[in-house]
Amino acid sequence: MVKTQIEARGIADKKLLEAFRNVERHKFVLPEYIPYAYNDSPLPIEEEQTISQPYIVAFMTDALNLGKTDKVLEIGTGSGYQAAILAELSDSVYTIEIFENLGNKARKLFSELGYKNIWCKVGDGFQGWPEHAPFDAIIVTCAPTKIPEPLQEQLAEGGRMIIPVGSSPVQHLVLLKKRKGKIREERVLPVRFVPMIDTSGKKY
Ligand code: SAH
Repeated sequence: MVKTQIEARGIADKKLLEAFRNVERHKFVLPEYIPYAYNDSPLPIEEEQTISQPYIVAFMTDALNLGKTDKVLEIGTGSGYQAAILAELSDSVYTIEIFENLGNKARKLFSELGYKNIWCKVGDGFQGWPEHAPFDAIIVTCAPTKIPEPLQEQLAEGGRMIIPVGSSPVQHLVLLKKRKGKIREERVLPVRFVPMIDTSGKKY
């Protein structure tokens, strides 16, 4: 998977490739999908959500240019796979999932796998996690139609955020950088993500 799907598409960061070798994707998928865990595609998880395609996880992580001491916020824990990759590369990972079932399942898995630098919360990630802000990097793995204001506020000086923006079925990944209090954004890739929803299930 690492060689043919990630390296072959131009991701060269050695630490990032190592992280993908360390995290076993088959532990994050439903039992019936284990035979497909290393395929080049997203897969269904519970609550009609998905674990993202490995290359997209790699592309988004690469765009964040993580350092070992970075504090990272993820919106949309889902299976927990992306959070585990982040935890291999940074100091601390805060991840929020709106479905209680998914959030609890991921929390249990992180503990079984021995991760001590991932903190999970069940709730609406649109609001971010102000108690732990600011974050050096923010990654959003569900798509709102507009970039949530609270997330922009919770980005540290010098911070990076990667987020899919737009309405279904196709959105754009947008990379934001905060310098001297100002945010610059750049569209980087067309993608397909599940929508960001609020606690009543309504799309943002
Ligand atoms: N990063 C995940 C991808 C999961 S798909 C992985 O590696 O598996 C995106 C997830 O975002 C879904 O689990 C969905 O339930 C969640 N989500 C949608 N809206 C949300 C919100 N407002 N706050 C937090 N999570 C949300």
